[in-house]
Amino acid sequence: MKGDSRNLGFSTRAIHAGQSPDPVTGSVTIPIYQTSTYMYEELGVHKGYEYARVQNPTREALEANIASLEGGLACHAFASGMSAIATLLTLVKAGEHVVCSRNVYGGTYRFFHHILERYDLSFSWVDSPDLTTIERAITPETKLVYIETPTNPMIEVTDIAGAAEIAHARGAQLAVDNTFMSPYFQLPLEHGADFVIHSTTKFLNGHSDSIGGALVSKHDKDAEWFGFVQRSEGAILSPFDSFLVLRGLKTLAVRMERHEVNGRAVARFLAGHPKVRSVLYPGLSDHPGHETQKKQASGFGALIAFELGGRSAAKTFLDRLELLSLAESLGGVETLISHPASMTHASVPPERQAELGISEGLVRVSVGIEDREDLLADLEQALSAL
Ligand SMILES: *Cc1c(COP(=O)(O)O)cnc(C)c1O
Repeated sequence: MKGDSRNLGFSTRAIHAGQSPDPVTGSVTIPIYQTSTYMYEELGVHKGYEYARVQNPTREALEANIASLEGGLACHAFASGMSAIATLLTLVKAGEHVVCSRNVYGGTYRFFHHILERYDLSFSWVDSPDLTTIERAITPETKLVYIETPTNPMIEVTDIAGAAEIAHARGAQLAVDNTFMSPYFQLPLEHGADFVIHSTTKFLNGHSDSIGGALVSKHDKDAEWFGFVQRSEGAILSPFDSFLVLRGLKTLAVRMERHEVNGRAVARFLAGHPKVRSVLYPGLSDHPGHETQKKQASGFGALIAFELGGRSAAKTFLDRLELLSLAESLGGVETLISHPASMTHASVPPERQAELGISEGLVRVSVGIEDREDLLADLEQALSAL
């Protein structure tokens, strides 16, 4: 498109925002600018592009697109979700403190606890769905409140507006990892958050063929700092991966609609199945976060956890599946299923897993966009082995 996309709808922005036609050829699709450097016209004169760690047009198009979808001021794209999170944490200095949901992504816990604590940052791990735990953990040194909602794998929901109010009242900022909802269902900045994190590896790219991360900011000063860190540290998203994520984003709206329809159907099926002991899905009216989810998001998503009663039941079930793939990760077009205790959360010590409610019988599914009858049939045949 040629003009400003600010007033357009979500699906239109997903396809057009940040993507003006290539100035040389008019190419409708943003080219993969696979170059490391750019030629100066003469000494002191260049076209705004000097060296590709610092500027790359494919990455810039992606960053503008995600900033538009999240309603942010700016976005910076990184080589992984973890490097986006690492960049966010450069806001916190030695001696300062972070209040963090105890149920965050396993890699986030590992990075904060095993790496950043060595640099004298401190963390309080709280049960953030209960906002009073955030309030009580904040100290005069608290710089950041960091939440994920819903969480993985326990699918806990935290009230974003409530967390923002508590953080701001005490002079801290709020970051929300929005990987599971995507901006199609949830816009944390509108609810008061200061930063949004994405592992673009998941729903934004959506095709399980790229690793990447994004950090969206709301304020000038933070955006400027993240740009400085991005070009100094250099954990940039490659031109090819930027292209893939841009391509994925064009279908984000239609994919999320289908993920949601399938997610609800699978959750309902599991909740009514005699071999399944319990189901965690915010779309079920008995889920403790159901009302909060309805208030702050326009969908419930496609992540479901359920309990089969023990490791051997989980193993029998998972080994029997034919269509659903046993794999880490989530958010792709194909349905992926995992065993958090031995896979995504293996780096979390067993005592801590128990505290978080991650049992040996817990299974987590990321429902894809296949035909739902086929998904239900595969689940049924595998459950019948129990
Ligand atoms: C996968 C994931 C991350 C880490 O992202 P990578 O792209 O794997 O580095 C962070 N947060 C959440 C919620 C995730 O699911």
